[in-house]
Amino acid sequence: MLKNLIGGQWEAVSGPALPVYNPATGEVLEEVPLSGPEAVDRAVRAAERAFPVWSRTPLLERVRLMFRFKALLEEHFEELARLVTLHHGKTLEEARGEVRRGIEVVDFALSAPTLLQGRTLREVTGGVDQNLYHYPLGVVAGIPPFNFPVMIPLWMIPIAVVAGNTFVLKPSERTPLGAVRLAELFLEAGFPEGVLNLVHGGKETAEALVAHPGVRAVQFVGSEPVARRIYALAAQGGKRVSAAGGAKNFLVVMPDADLELAVPAILNSAFGNAGERCLAGSVAVGVGEAGPRLLERVVEAASRLKVGPGWEEGVQVGPLIRAEHRARVVGYIERGLAEGAELVLDGRKEMGRPGFFLGPTVMAGVSPGMAVGREEIFGPVLGVAYAGDVEEAIRMANAVPYGNMACIFTASGRAARAFREGVEAGMVGVNVGVAQPFAFYPFSGWRASFFGDLHPHGPDAFLFYTRRKVAVERW
Ligand code: NAD
Repeated sequence: MLKNLIGGQWEAVSGPALPVYNPATGEVLEEVPLSGPEAVDRAVRAAERAFPVWSRTPLLERVRLMFRFKALLEEHFEELARLVTLHHGKTLEEARGEVRRGIEVVDFALSAPTLLQGRTLREVTGGVDQNLYHYPLGVVAGIPPFNFPVMIPLWMIPIAVVAGNTFVLKPSERTPLGAVRLAELFLEAGFPEGVLNLVHGGKETAEALVAHPGVRAVQFVGSEPVARRIYALAAQGGKRVSAAGGAKNFLVVMPDADLELAVPAILNSAFGNAGERCLAGSVAVGVGEAGPRLLERVVEAASRLKVGPGWEEGVQVGPLIRAEHRARVVGYIERGLAEGAELVLDGRKEMGRPGFFLGPTVMAGVSPGMAVGREEIFGPVLGVAYAGDVEEAIRMANAVPYGNMACIFTASGRAARAFREGVEAGMVGVNVGVAQPFAFYPFSGWRASFFGDLHPHGPDAFLFYTRRKVAVERW
C-alpha cells in the first residue's frame, strides 16, 4: 500500500484503497489509499509549519535545491519514463517525451531570480518612490489528472516551491506512482521537511484539500466537470484557483496542405498517448478536395499502427487506463454509428488481448452535432469531417464548448492567419498536430477548457504563485 508523505515522513494509511494497474496486462501493481480529511488536515498543517522558514530561505538557496532536484531527475530519467509506461500504459518513447517536458518546467523554475523580480519607479511624486515586490502565498495545493503522472505534477511543484510556497499534492489515484517517485527525489535533493507533502486519494480527498482553510491556492488539471466544480469550491473559500479542464481539438487540413507532413502529425495527435491527451486531435476536418484524400491516407496509415504494451520495441499505441474507461470510449463509437457516422477503421478488434487495449479507430462523416464530434472521448478515436472552406472549418471548431487547441495544415499564410484569428482556442498549431507550448509559455486553454485567469507554467505561473505588495515610500 502506498504511503502519504507528511512533514517529511512516509506514513502508512489504513482504510479503503484502490488497485493501481498495469493497463497493458491488467495486473495489480500497488494499492493506493483513499485518505480521509484527517490526513489532509495533517498534510496542510505540516505545510503550514514549514512555510515561515521556507518562505524566508534565501532565493539562491531555494534555486540551488531546485538545481539538485533537476540533476536527480536527469539521473533517474529512464527509470521515471519506465515507471510512467508501467502504470499509465503509454509507449516508452511517449513516456520519455513526458518526462522531458516535465523537467523543462524545472529548468524554467530555475529562472526564478529573474522572474520574481519586482518593479520600481523613483520620484513618482515629490520625493516619493514606488516599489512592487512578489511574496509567496503560503500553502498551495495541486490536483493532477491520470494522463501525465510525472509531467503535470512538475507543472505545479517546482514553480510554486521555488517562489517560496509549501505544497500539498494529491496525485491521481489511477497513476500515483510517478508523483511518489518525484517526492522521493525531491527529499533526496535536500528540500526541508514539509515543503512538499503528498496525500493519496480520490474525489473526497481532493475536495477536503480544496476546502481546507489553510490552503491559499489550488491548481487543478483534469476533466471539465471536475474543473468547474473545483473552480467553484475554491472560489467559495476565497482562494486563488487555476483549473484546466477537458478538450475537443480540431485539426483542419486545407487543399494545399502537404499530406506527407499532415498525415503523420494527425496520427500522432489522435492516437499518441492512446488519445488520452488534452491536446489530442479529435476531429480532422478536410477542406474542399482535401476531404476524400485525407480520409483515405489517414485510414491507410492508422491501420498500420502497431498496438501493444508500451515497453515493446516498435509499439505505437498503448492501452487505455482502465477497462471502464475503455467501455466509455467504445460507447462513443456505438453512439457515433447510431448518429450516422461511418466506422471506417474499427479498433475494437484489439480488445481480445489482456489489458485495456483499443486500437486506432476512424469514423467519417462526423459533425459537431454528434456526440463523437462534440464531446471529449479521450481515446484513440478520430472523427473525420468535411468543410467547404476555412471559414466553415473555423465555425465547426468553434461550435464545441471547449477551446484548448486547434490546428491547421496549409501552405497558405492567408488561411493560417484567418484560422489563428478566428478560432476560439488558446493553443493554435500551424502545420503541427500537437501545439503544446514549451514551459516558458503558458498552457493557454480557453472557454470550457480552462477556469481561472493565470494558466499553468510560463510567467503566468510565477504570478499565480505569488501576491504583489506595493510600497509607496518617502524618506
Ligand atoms: P478527472 O477530472 O477524473 O480527475 C482529475 C483529478 O481530480 C484526479 O486527481 C481525481 O482524483 C480528482 N477528482 C476526480 N473527481 C473529482 C471530484 N468530483 N471532485 C474533486 N476531485 C476529483 O480527470 P482524469 O480522468 O484523471 O484526467 C483526464 C482529463 O483531464 C481529461 O478530461 C483531459 O482533457 C484533462 N486534462 C486536461 C489538461 C489541460 O491542461 N487542460 C491536461 C491533462 C488532462
